Amino acid sequence: MNYKNITVAGSGVLGSQIAYQAAFKGFDVAIYDINDEAVESSKKRLVKLKGNYCNDMGASEEEVDMAYARLSFHTDLAKAVADADLVIEAIPEVADIKTAFYMELGKVAPEKTVFATNSSTLLPSQFAEATGRPEKFLALHFANTIRINNTAEIMKHPGTADSVFDDMVEFAEAIGMVALPLHKEQPGYILNSLLVPFLEAAELLLVKGVADVQTVDKTWMIATGAPLGPFAILDVVGINTAHNIVQAKAAATGNPKFVELAHMLKTDYLDKGKLGRETGEGFYNY
Ligand code: NAD
Repeated sequence: MNYKNITVAGSGVLGSQIAYQAAFKGFDVAIYDINDEAVESSKKRLVKLKGNYCNDMGASEEEVDMAYARLSFHTDLAKAVADADLVIEAIPEVADIKTAFYMELGKVAPEKTVFATNSSTLLPSQFAEATGRPEKFLALHFANTIRINNTAEIMKHPGTADSVFDDMVEFAEAIGMVALPLHKEQPGYILNSLLVPFLEAAELLLVKGVADVQTVDKTWMIATGAPLGPFAILDVVGINTAHNIVQAKAAATGNPKFVELAHMLKTDYLDKGKLGRETGEGFYNY
């Protein structure tokens, strides 16, 4: 394993989870965020994660405390990456913020440091130049609740060195992930390349009045043996996110079927507070 010291930049929802998972698996992890307030919020998330690891992962109090003790907290980027072998970036999904971050990071990080982005929708080639070290840059994409949904999609951009890609596969496995290598850039990686059109197809069956929610889900589950149908999955993803995706498509294409679908999701679900599992009601009641 070529990596020992890890820095996680951005300690929000995903950054905190990534940092804690790596620490739980024995790595020293420096957490970097923009100010003390953000670091304090991160600490609250991390304390909560300790409880989650006891409850969900069968970890002992001693183990979760030891993991927490491997974390250090920083608001100075140069100090946070001073001896980093790997920086995992989990800052907001805004291209300008990421570009500015990589330009700064490229200047202050040691030459050895590899950079990985956890971006869900932006491609690594967008930032490769800003890093100043395109061969040592790639995507390492986690799913939310990484201790349970432990996929790590590892994606090259055209300039990523093969050795860096191979090391990342090894690192992902070392922190308890199932490493899923993507040899070419693909918006949405593997999971969302499959999931987004699948969910959209189900939503269109509903809005066209072809079949109701239960019938669509039942068809999929019985015919394929899948544990959940598309509408049950949409309730997990959150109808807000589903609406954002359809709305963007409606705006970009003007296609009436997406316009109608966006309208239906808004008026029948969002406006009624039915956002999915999180609110206790979506396509189903929980
Ligand atoms: P978040 O808003 O919860 O956290 C972002 C963090 O970045 C905050 O702590 C914020 O203070 C910090 N930050 C802002 N500007 C910064 C800067 N210039 N330098 C360092 N830190 C900065 O966001 P999130 O949901 O954790 O998402 C972060 C990244 O992870 C995004 O690229 C997103 O696409 C990706 N991602 C999110 C999920 C998810 O389910 N939330 C899943 C997979 C990947």
